[in-house]
Amino acid sequence: MTTIDAIFALYADRGSASYFGEAVTQAEHALQTAHLAETDKAPPPLIVAALLHDIGHLLHTAGEDVAKRGVDTRHERIGARWLTPHFGRHISEPVRLHVAAKRYLCAIDPDYFARLSPASVKSLELQGGVMRFSDTRQFERQDHWREAVRLRRWDEEAKVPGLIVPPIEHYQPQLEACLQPDAENASENATRRS
Ligand code: FE
Repeated sequence: MTTIDAIFALYADRGSASYFGEAVTQAEHALQTAHLAETDKAPPPLIVAALLHDIGHLLHTAGEDVAKRGVDTRHERIGARWLTPHFGRHISEPVRLHVAAKRYLCAIDPDYFARLSPASVKSLELQGGVMRFSDTRQFERQDHWREAVRLRRWDEEAKVPGLIVPPIEHYQPQLEACLQPDAENASENATRRS
């Protein structure tokens, strides 16, 4: 199975799971985030990062009610680890940093905090709360932090019940363009190891 087939299969199989306390599914949330990135004229790697930013939620096996049970699955790390060999760090890093970007935005932008949904405020606590001001400087020294912040703002808006947006197949050209040259070997090795 190719990497892109595996991604489509994952969203077909597990994308109908609810998006933690929001009125949209995981797949709807992913597609709305990608659509906002595309509408905002983001470059293809950032559109792909937006589409796949929560893939860690579909890869982990902790169950849909983890946040309710007070568990942080560190889905951003699970997702980034899976994405790196397939797409490289310019896509996996914004994904890895998208939770820290929420904590960062809450520290520097009071309007952003005020717009968080109740479920997002709840998960913020589990994820370490608002970032300390001294840590915001550290965050800004990481590669791809600006992309993570852009992604995070779309992430927060991508929770509109019933919104019609393009399907996942719409992003096949961007996904193909962003694949690492040896990505198919990486996916074969990952399958062989597991
Ligand atoms: Fe998200």
